[in-house]
Amino acid sequence: MEGKNPFFTLKSHFLEKFEDNYRQRGLRNQLVKKLRQKGILDEKVLAAIAKVPRHVFFDGALLTHAYEDKAFPIGEGQTISQPYTVAFQTEKLQVKSGDKVLEVGTGSGYQAAVLLELGVKLYTIEYNRKLYEKTKAMLPQLGYNPFFLHGDGSKGLPAKAPFDKIIVTAGAPIVPAALTEQLAEGGCMIIPVGDQEKQAMLRITKKNGKLVKEEFDNFAFVPLLGAHGWKS
Ligand code: SAM
Repeated sequence: MEGKNPFFTLKSHFLEKFEDNYRQRGLRNQLVKKLRQKGILDEKVLAAIAKVPRHVFFDGALLTHAYEDKAFPIGEGQTISQPYTVAFQTEKLQVKSGDKVLEVGTGSGYQAAVLLELGVKLYTIEYNRKLYEKTKAMLPQLGYNPFFLHGDGSKGLPAKAPFDKIIVTAGAPIVPAALTEQLAEGGCMIIPVGDQEKQAMLRITKKNGKLVKEEFDNFAFVPLLGAHGWKS
């Protein structure tokens, strides 16, 4: 009966996509174990990864790959970041509940969901209109409600600055001064900077008005576009 009725077909497709069963929870726990082995130690970050249903951020054929530690295409030439990368950036950001955070590069919304699990107040900005619209429609259905913005995040969001933390999830050619200017005193930004093939993960902390730079491992992100990115 259900299979023949288009309403029920639509409804069951929706429920299937949003279903979070013991198998998916088991796969997530295995992913968390792998992240711990790879050196992610912050238990709050690992708990957030264990909670967010990554498979819901995937479409059709790729669904079965949702708990592999890999980046995957999300359309528009963009990707959902590798879980290790999400965990690494989140850990290095050292967020506290209540922090005001800016994310540049909403993409699928997965990183946003992980940050919201940690109790932050999140502004997330996406350059690609189709991804912005898709994620803005989908994320609240999972109970995640950041402030969504469409535009060039390489310029930050001066109207809402300063931010306790800024996370950039696309590879930048430089550290945009527009972003460091929008950091609160004591705040930090995590940003991959390099060429279009690989980037060093940098943490920039504002201490007594000065910027302190730390450099971590190399990663490979899609390019940051816009005024302070690789121009579109
Ligand atoms: N955080 C994302 C997630 O969890 O799926 C990963 C996003 S993907 C690696 C990078 C995203 O940055 C893409 O969606 C891309 O469109 C976006 N982007 C690139 N340049 C941007 C800019 N100047 N402002 C805002 N978003 C930008």
